[in-house]
Amino acid sequence: MFEATEKFPSLGIEGIQQLVDFYRQYDNETNEIRKNRGFYCLPGCGACCYVPSSKIEVSVFELIPLSIQIAMNGKGDETLQLLETENIEQQPCIFYKKNSEDGKQGFCSEYALRPLICRLFGGGARVKKDATREMLLCKLLKEEHRLNQEMLDQISQEFPLNSDTSSIVRNLNLTFDSNLYPINIAMKKALEYVMFRMQWYNPDAPEPDEPPVLTPEGGMDHAA
Ligand code: SF4
Ligand code: SF4
Repeated sequence: MFEATEKFPSLGIEGIQQLVDFYRQYDNETNEIRKNRGFYCLPGCGACCYVPSSKIEVSVFELIPLSIQIAMNGKGDETLQLLETENIEQQPCIFYKKNSEDGKQGFCSEYALRPLICRLFGGGARVKKDATREMLLCKLLKEEHRLNQEMLDQISQEFPLNSDTSSIVRNLNLTFDSNLYPINIAMKKALEYVMFRMQWYNPDAPEPDEPPVLTPEGGMDHAA
């Protein structure tokens, strides 16, 4: 598994090293706030992952690092096979491992390289119409902290704004479309893109050929 301190094998895709570094920085920063304020998800909870994939919308770019890791570990074909299951859009994210009968307890098997959206599940800040800030929380955390409004207000000043965070990630690579897809669908597109690109990419070649660019929609741009 990729360790955060390593140089990431970006396959020459613009913005991937920065994206991985940003993921790490975002987690470090928000984990520090969580630790200082004692603000955590409920123990063992994974309820936000145990929903139809169509309820978790994500860009293809956010999933490129995870796709690279899977493809480089030789798991690309089996993962694609899983993603080709009928109605995969309505199934929970393929990386969720449930620990309880009702599926609400569980964990992410690809936590280190999970996409941005999943890093925002456990809390994120936004600016309201009256220009004050508030925390965006899942139902469970709202209930858990309903008597802690003062603490939530303080944290909302410290947490990065979701809008800023999303914009930083989006701008790291403008060649991918910015559409959002159900997470299982976005994962399939990202993995197909990476596996396609790997056929051309040779980091040891003195003058590596530029591979054709496959757009996330499946089109190919040979001129890029
Ligand atoms: S990638 Fe991980 S955190 Fe995100 S929805 Fe899937 S299981 Fe949950
Ligand atoms: S964000 Fe909410 S639903 Fe998701 S793991 Fe945390 S407490 Fe559970």
